[in-house]
Amino acid sequence: MAEQFDVSYDMVVVGGGGSGLSCAVQAAKDGLTVAVLEKKPELGGNTAFAEGHASFESVEQAKRGITVTKDQGYRALLDYSHWNAKPALVARYVENADQTVLKMIEEGVVYHDVLVMESDDGLPTWHIPEGEMSGLLAVLKGSIQRLGVEVFLETRATSLITSDSGAVIGVVATDKDGEQVRIGAGAVALAGGGFGSNAELLAKYTSYSHPEKIFPFGSDCATGDGLLMAEAVGGHPFRKIGTALLGPLMRGKTIISHTNCAGLQPYYWADAQGRRFCNEIVALNFGHAGQTIAQQPAGYTWTIIDQATVRHLVEERCEIGMGIYIVAGQKLDTLPAELEADVAAGLTAFKGETLEELAAAIGVDPVGFVGDIAEYNQACATGKDTKFVKQEHLRPIAEGPFYALKMEAGILVTTGGIDIDEYMRVIDAKGDPIVGLYAVGCEAGGLYGESYCMTVNGASAGFALTSGWLAADHAAELVKAGQSA
Ligand SMILES: Cc1cc2nc3c(=O)[nH]c(=O)nc-3n(C[C@H](O)[C@H](O)[C@H](O)COP(=O)(O)OP(=O)(O)OC[C@H]3O[C@@H](n4cnc5c(N)ncnc54)[C@H](O)[C@@H]3O)c2cc1C
Repeated sequence: MAEQFDVSYDMVVVGGGGSGLSCAVQAAKDGLTVAVLEKKPELGGNTAFAEGHASFESVEQAKRGITVTKDQGYRALLDYSHWNAKPALVARYVENADQTVLKMIEEGVVYHDVLVMESDDGLPTWHIPEGEMSGLLAVLKGSIQRLGVEVFLETRATSLITSDSGAVIGVVATDKDGEQVRIGAGAVALAGGGFGSNAELLAKYTSYSHPEKIFPFGSDCATGDGLLMAEAVGGHPFRKIGTALLGPLMRGKTIISHTNCAGLQPYYWADAQGRRFCNEIVALNFGHAGQTIAQQPAGYTWTIIDQATVRHLVEERCEIGMGIYIVAGQKLDTLPAELEADVAAGLTAFKGETLEELAAAIGVDPVGFVGDIAEYNQACATGKDTKFVKQEHLRPIAEGPFYALKMEAGILVTTGGIDIDEYMRVIDAKGDPIVGLYAVGCEAGGLYGESYCMTVNGASAGFALTSGWLAADHAAELVKAGQSA
């Protein structure tokens, strides 16, 4: 019996973030009728929080005399994943990411810089559009309007509709009035942004002691609907599912908070028992630092600073910034006022005139707490930290008042999801494509190992944009072939 649909399109895109909009624009330009379903009241997803996206051998890099070859990008992504990533998928992304920059420029995006982040050995691949990624999204929103793409906000896709042969031919969604709609589709792209805000799926696919304590640093939109929908029609998760964690982070703070920034400095960290537990230099790589915090049995740590360090941060510099919003070397001038307000709130910042008083305020055994700090102060004096072989950023904790900042791990995005081939087609357990079904951006797996690639700056948003239009091109051929058959 022929399927009954309320409405039909050549292509339905589930999710209106970076990957979804890139996909929708390209599909419309390829001549398809396109609908975007977005469960939130506005488009953007986590892409709206990002600063820039990766590309290799792009015109914007050439303009600035920056050389990052495609070969370097390919090897960086695969090496970082210990070659767990899918070589053909990585290659297709790296090969086509320069086209993404051209396509964005064609739509009206202006790039104001190409940067490298502060991590040890990053590549200058981070293309920063004017207005960052939300500026780029604004341009793409204009494009979809111009191209006649239909956007359904507050409309959540809940399942896929398949034909007798198993091909995906539509989507079931709940619209903004709570009504169920059946939407026919020549092809469907799952662009829901992964499952970073779904504690249940994080618990299932990761091994952190307290996955429920890892909080989404961006939007709460990444609920894993795409993965669940794909599994229901024969798709499966990529064998390596990971997370792009970042830390240490203070719950409830934004990217511009100076207390949060003080807490992520590589000075002195203690675990939930008040004991020093690692070389704080891990802070230079926010992904590694996030892993370190998330692996803590309690799921949180303390950053301990004294008054001299507060002065250093306010009057001289921070060592580590927050993306492009707080840059390394910047003075944290609003720190004293923010810190006092946080101490008064009594949730994430605590103060003691003495170290014993601080130990009592955070509920740890003062003997171990004060003993470890004395040992560290000795290392600062001699320049030799024999416990965790730390050689930089050895700042003693000697001048009261003292502060303890409660830090946790945040999640940017999940780095792995639905298993796909290099054409962004969702594949079944045998590796065969499920006809008509694509997964793009953070909904898709295969680009990483168990964590985010920190050396290719902007890898995730770059993949979102590039996988989006690549999927659209492939789907356009499929749909047109079906229409002419
Ligand atoms: C604070 C922050 C900073 C970041 N900075 C960078 C950066 O500088 N560079 C970088 O490469 N990456 C960065 N990232 C990661 C980057 O944002 C993502 O990798 C990328 O933008 C994901 O794009 P996406 O389209 O897959 O998902 P999203 O942009 O999250 O879009 C997914 C959309 O799908 C919608 N959706 C989900 N399920 C459904 C459903 N069932 N029905 C309908 N709609 C649904 C969601 O509401 C959402 O709007 C950052 C992330 C955060 C949180």
